[in-house]
Amino acid sequence: MIDRNRLQNMIQELNIRADSEALDRFDCYAEALLETNQYLNLTAITEPDEVTDKHFADSLSVFSVCDPFPGAKWLDVGTGAGFPGAVLLMTRPDLQMTLLDGTLKKLRFVDDTLRKVGLSAEIVHARAEETGQDPRYREQFDYVTARAVANLRELTEYCIPFVRVGGFFIAMKSVKSSEEIGQAEGAIRLMGGKIDKVSAWTLPNSESRTLIRIKKISQTPPKYPRPSAKIAKHPLR
Ligand code: SAM
Repeated sequence: MIDRNRLQNMIQELNIRADSEALDRFDCYAEALLETNQYLNLTAITEPDEVTDKHFADSLSVFSVCDPFPGAKWLDVGTGAGFPGAVLLMTRPDLQMTLLDGTLKKLRFVDDTLRKVGLSAEIVHARAEETGQDPRYREQFDYVTARAVANLRELTEYCIPFVRVGGFFIAMKSVKSSEEIGQAEGAIRLMGGKIDKVSAWTLPNSESRTLIRIKKISQTPPKYPRPSAKIAKHPLR
């Protein structure tokens, strides 16, 4: 179903790899996504090549800025229909993947799809800002990712509390992000993070993507993340 050559070309450019088992899993994922999308709103992307580029290659681009050790604990915040978390797990089944989202129906879809390909992740149906105060999840993850969830200032407060000191938060952005990064620098510092890499790449249709890798260098102060109303009303500076 997916054009394997197209995907392989993109990921070779990013200097990453996906084996044939991963590509078989993506076939199953693409089929389930497009079929389920007919009655459940999972994605606005419905052309197979676009699914390949904007969901699979884009998700996999995360591995161009990190090389997780076997069994690393990974959390994908606001995963929706599983991007990037489920794609990363399909490529690296050794990862201990947790997928978090506030919308249950999307999580059910991802859970079912992972089972179809013989994989499983911990599924957490909750708001990030509440789970970030739960000791079972706070400062427990080697890697945290988020794509298309919120602007970087808010995202920083949602995501960095989950990262253990020494771990990484990787934010995926599709728009020109230098201004957004500038506005989030104070918040990143306050949460205990430090930007250590910003990497840009381009999809075949010329759309640009940016990966912002933030290293956690000190613990997040206990009062963060704050309740969602406070985050929205008084974003960190
Ligand atoms: N990451 C996926 C992707 O790139 O296709 C989904 C993106 S979708 C635009 C945003 C997702 O983030 C939604 O599924 C929404 O439920 C979730 N979300 C937004 N804010 C959240 C929060 N504070 N806690 C948990 N999930 C959240």
